[in-house]
Amino acid sequence: MALHRRRTKKDEEEFEDIYTDPVSLMQLPKSKLPEDASNPRVIKQLIRDELFMDGNARQNLATFCTTYIEDEVRELMDLSIDKNMIDKDEYPQTAEIEQRCVNILANLWHAPDKKGTIGCSTTGSSEAAMLGGLALKWQWRKRREAEGKPTHNPNFVCGPVQICWHKFARYFDVEIREVPLKPGELGMRPDQLRDYCDENTIGVVATLGSTFTGIYEPVRELAEALDVIENERGWDIPIHVDGASGAFIAPFIQKDLKWDFSIPRVKSINASGHKFGMAPLGVGWVIWRSLADLPEELVFNVDYLGGQMPTFALNFSRPAGQIIAQYYKFLRLGREGYTAIQHDCARSAQYLGEQLKGIDRLEILYDGHGGIPAVCYTLRDEKATEFSLYDLSERLRMRGWQIASYPLPAERQNTTVQRILIRHGVSRDMVSLLLSDLRRELEHLQSNSVVSSGDRIGFHH
Ligand SMILES: *Cc1c(COP(=O)(O)O)cnc(C)c1O
Repeated sequence: MALHRRRTKKDEEEFEDIYTDPVSLMQLPKSKLPEDASNPRVIKQLIRDELFMDGNARQNLATFCTTYIEDEVRELMDLSIDKNMIDKDEYPQTAEIEQRCVNILANLWHAPDKKGTIGCSTTGSSEAAMLGGLALKWQWRKRREAEGKPTHNPNFVCGPVQICWHKFARYFDVEIREVPLKPGELGMRPDQLRDYCDENTIGVVATLGSTFTGIYEPVRELAEALDVIENERGWDIPIHVDGASGAFIAPFIQKDLKWDFSIPRVKSINASGHKFGMAPLGVGWVIWRSLADLPEELVFNVDYLGGQMPTFALNFSRPAGQIIAQYYKFLRLGREGYTAIQHDCARSAQYLGEQLKGIDRLEILYDGHGGIPAVCYTLRDEKATEFSLYDLSERLRMRGWQIASYPLPAERQNTTVQRILIRHGVSRDMVSLLLSDLRRELEHLQSNSVVSSGDRIGFHH
């Protein structure tokens, strides 16, 4: 089927209105390449129109990712749209900029050896986690081989982790030992490590900014517990910090918290540039404490300015713009700018937390203090209630707000929670609009009994 008749030069000149173009009078192709070419303006507009269905990303308070983007970032992204970051030889300045970002982060996270800094950009924290995990696995195996011990049963220990760590476990054949939540806790506790670590533990993954609730796991206390284990059992177990969100928050607004390379046991850290790093989507970072912590077997060399440059990545081709935009953010904001923005986000989250505490149907699990700028709460007496947080999510969606409801991880999976992220661009005014919508919808749900979710499914089918 031809999408429409072939266009002539005359058509182009007479073109008047997108919605009177023949393409606008039919459905867009959904499974087959159209036979004919079309007017770019028409196609662009029709695709934009379809994207309305996605809602408004700025009102998506479930995502951690950057949704407020400065014009300068758009321009830099546009400028670099044709650059492949892996072509270090062809685009040496982009490679240089990536290295500057690595240096800046290593410095921000207190890497001890300025000269030995090693790290790289990735597509996000997921790829960064894979690389961090692989380095741990290789280091452990080398250690075991040197001791003449078996190497077929590696495991890693963690609290409630983001899905990327489950992927790492499965794709790279490492057992994941996810410590279940103790009653009343939202993360792994130091006293739990003893029961889960052994000689085959390649590392402990501590999360700075849990995806479930926003809290930080106590890296320093976890490291101390591992010190005790080393003294008693002789196992020197490294820590990788998943700082997807927190690694861009803590250095600015929780300066007294010890979580980074200032703790010798922390060997690697990952972060998402496209979350609180405020770069546009598609960039993450992983940094190792020192050259010795990244096994050289994992490093591949590519040509660079007549020489060679080490790379470590799962991807080959990748856009350069996000890295350049990250560098722009570092220079444009500086420590002052990051501190001001993260501080304001945290204050807005804490304000939201305070206000939610005043709603007696809600029980606050995380009120925005001590972790990332977010709040997390559950419904009081959910079992005795005629509605759930899923109903509340649905009601808020009518005003455009996207707020996720989901169960807590293992051992607390009967608790359903909602989490709201406060990012750059979520103003106090938006928070107050959200609050009044939330109050109104809660009242609506309380005074209009909804059918239980089981019945609702029955009704739809
Ligand atoms: C978001 C997140 C990830 C995954 O990061 P991407 O950048 O989305 O790949 C991993 N860990 C934590 C704690 C996260 O919040």
